[in-house]
Amino acid sequence: MKTMKDDIQSVLYTEEQLREGVKRIADEINRDYAGKEIYAIGILKGAIIFYADLVREINVPVSFDFMAASSYGKGSTSSGAVKILKDLDFSIEGKHVIIIEDIVDSGLTLSYLLKNMESRHPASVKLCALLNKPERREVDVKVDYVGFEVPNEFLVGYGLDYDSKYRNLPYIGILKPEVYTK
Ligand code: 5GP
Ligand code: MG
Ligand code: MG
Repeated sequence: MKTMKDDIQSVLYTEEQLREGVKRIADEINRDYAGKEIYAIGILKGAIIFYADLVREINVPVSFDFMAASSYGKGSTSSGAVKILKDLDFSIEGKHVIIIEDIVDSGLTLSYLLKNMESRHPASVKLCALLNKPERREVDVKVDYVGFEVPNEFLVGYGLDYDSKYRNLPYIGILKPEVYTK
């Protein structure tokens, strides 16, 4: 029987490496936000596994909220325009916001979300992404907290999907190109 693993070319980050990366980010956040409270905005759906692991390593109070944003079109590349599919449940006015993303690729999603959040008058906004793919950047966006700099490959697992699948792989792997070119 064919399994998800058969579609993975190689493992880029093991569960153990991901745990260490998450811990490293949490340590920085704990240092920077000591004595404050955080309003953590997870970007659905890709960030949810990272979000769940990260918040459990944070030692200051964290309020949860989520947004769903979609760059138009499905597939392995994003087209540019960003649409909000699910907005926040509460106001972020006066709050210390951290936007939590799975991966920054072109930067279009985060740069749009950052502007959108800033217009709502939070006390501060920072960006946090588990993965950063700098080679593909189209717009300049400063990511304050990054787990790993990744090569220009299509990655899946630990929340990241291809065609809604592979999110539940516990590690991050490079998807075999034949899976998305067929
Ligand atoms: P950006 O707006 O920075 O181009 O794209 C961000 C979104 O594109 C990510 O949140 C993610 O959903 C998707 N994306 C970018 N690179 C990858 C990748 O290597 N694998 C997967 N599964 N999604 C990606
Ligand atoms: Mg995402
Ligand atoms: Mg996706």
